[in-house]
Amino acid sequence: MTKFEALGLKKTLLDAIVDMGFETPSEVQEMAIPILLEGDTDLVALAQTGTGKTAAFGFPLIQKIDANSKTTQGLILSPTRELCMQITNEMQAYSKYERGINVVAVYGGASITDQARQIKRGAQIVVATPGRMKDMMSRGLVDISKIDVCILDEADEMLNMGFYEDIKEILSDTPKEKNTWLFSATMPKEVATIAKKFMRNPQEITVGTKNSGASTVQHEYYVVGGRDRYPALKRLADTHPDIFSVIFCRTKRDTQKVAESLIEDGYNAGALHGDLSQNQRDLVMNAFRKKQIQMLVATDVAARGIDVDDITHVINYQLPDEIETYTHRSGRTGRAGKSGTSMVIITRSELRKIKAIENKIGQKFITKNIPSGMEICEIQLYHLANKIKDTEVNAQVEAYLPAITKVFEGIDRDELIKKVVSVEFTRFFNYYNKTKDLNASGSDRGDRDDRNSDRGNNNSGEIPTSGAVRYFINVGEKDDYDWMSLKDFLRDTLEVGQDDIFKVDVKESFSFFNTDASITPKILETFKDFKVEGRFVNVEISSNPGGGGGGSRSGSRDRNRGGGGGRDRSRGGDSGGYGGKKRERSSSSSKGGFKDDSGSKRRSGGNRSNSRSESKGGSKESSGGKSKRRSGFF
Ligand code: ADP
Ligand code: MG
Repeated sequence: MTKFEALGLKKTLLDAIVDMGFETPSEVQEMAIPILLEGDTDLVALAQTGTGKTAAFGFPLIQKIDANSKTTQGLILSPTRELCMQITNEMQAYSKYERGINVVAVYGGASITDQARQIKRGAQIVVATPGRMKDMMSRGLVDISKIDVCILDEADEMLNMGFYEDIKEILSDTPKEKNTWLFSATMPKEVATIAKKFMRNPQEITVGTKNSGASTVQHEYYVVGGRDRYPALKRLADTHPDIFSVIFCRTKRDTQKVAESLIEDGYNAGALHGDLSQNQRDLVMNAFRKKQIQMLVATDVAARGIDVDDITHVINYQLPDEIETYTHRSGRTGRAGKSGTSMVIITRSELRKIKAIENKIGQKFITKNIPSGMEICEIQLYHLANKIKDTEVNAQVEAYLPAITKVFEGIDRDELIKKVVSVEFTRFFNYYNKTKDLNASGSDRGDRDDRNSDRGNNNSGEIPTSGAVRYFINVGEKDDYDWMSLKDFLRDTLEVGQDDIFKVDVKESFSFFNTDASITPKILETFKDFKVEGRFVNVEISSNPGGGGGGSRSGSRDRNRGGGGGRDRSRGGDSGGYGGKKRERSSSSSKGGFKDDSGSKRRSGGNRSNSRSESKGGSKESSGGKSKRRSGFF
């Protein structure tokens, strides 16, 4: 008797399990399936991402369905369209040997009439996103008044996404005596509230430690300067030539920008975020599944549906605001028994977040160094040598061999090897040769004093050292800013916490904001020769501390004056390092990128951007902003 048989599953399901290639039940399956088959009970099951929760509720649900009745008997709610489709596919595979069981997916962004038609034909199981479900209910297109089981899958994510009210309304249309099975990776208090409010004496099972990340995942962090995030990301990718990864950014804008930069630098990258059409997202996901995309840059919300099992690396380009989100991110790798790595690119001022995450996931991080240029060259060289060794000889070359051999006449084996690997290696070497160390983890950096004196030269007035400081900035409503978006912009650019920027007043063509004096040097430094879309953005200390009115703008000419033109820093903060590239690219007309033949040119472009950001260095993180970092979670 197999372990699956011992759980009480019927023959047809066991046959499907064999076809699926599942050999032994996962822990959550082993615990949940007998409970759910045995009697009518509510259940709260907590298990990490990738532990097989779908099958844990899917098999028992199918076994409970009366296939002779066309009535909808089971409802599965899931947070995203992608998950909805994924669950539907799984349920269809599980029920392949059942006669007359229909599983129908109901989600937004697709024809509601098609979905209604499928349901009308008889759907014993409906898998739905809360929003579309509510929509269909209100139009009378689906009837869940007779369901026996309602499953809340990925409950924490559904609540994170603000589906509480929808779920509440959906549940209120279901019979009281149904059972509710709640599955979740984490147990924030919102989930506990749902369990308490809508469930009757639920049994509770927990796999592993509560709220912990999958233990097949190794967690690593890399401390860099705020402007070195992008070059650091490239190095991490170059260190892992076979990387198959999801890269998480905090905003849609950053997601798009990082993806574009990677593509322009010749990586197989793609963006996944909410500003893309469903069609675009499907294209990207398909390419990712086929591994045509090696680096998928995604927002947290968009990535919720990613159902790809063999992701080797999750890279946190920026840490999320909430620790729970980190758990979800890192859970994208190390799935289905495979191991994975979750990397965090972090600035020094964020270091204490690591501790908070460690506490939450019950696992230690390993601190690692961003590899040096020469280390990467070495790795790439071995990778190349192995690739050559493993390459299958194409029979077609046979015919040309005599001629080719002639070309190589007089070159001995060693020499030939050197030449062959140099073909590709030189590109890496030229790019990485003499690049700087990106690690900011060590002692204070040497360029720090330079920076300070730099600042001194450029600032005409006294720099306050304590209390609140008010600033003038030469962007306003006409630049499409409101107080919120300006605050976001400043926060992202300066990499400070939400509450570190306050009293933001946006006027027609300029604005004011306040910070603590500890952040002042960082602000003056960051906005020295700072450009957005070719235009200088100028920040200076306002002589009107109360703010509000048209504070003094004297001295703005000073800082606006040239010198910056050639050292365009474009956008600041974490987007640094690639802001100026567009310009370089257009001047060097070379298309494609690193991984094709024109790569060396591109690389030297990137290289310049490296050295440019070097002058600013990562050590600016050391100046202020730390003390009052927002504590969303941390
Ligand atoms: P979760 O919902 O817990 O994040 P999934 O249900 O999506 O996890 O399962 C993750 C992967 O593991 C899927 O590809 C699934 O097919 C596979 N899987 C599930 N159960 C087993 C099992 N018992 N043996 C092998 N693979 C399994
Ligand atoms: Mg799941």
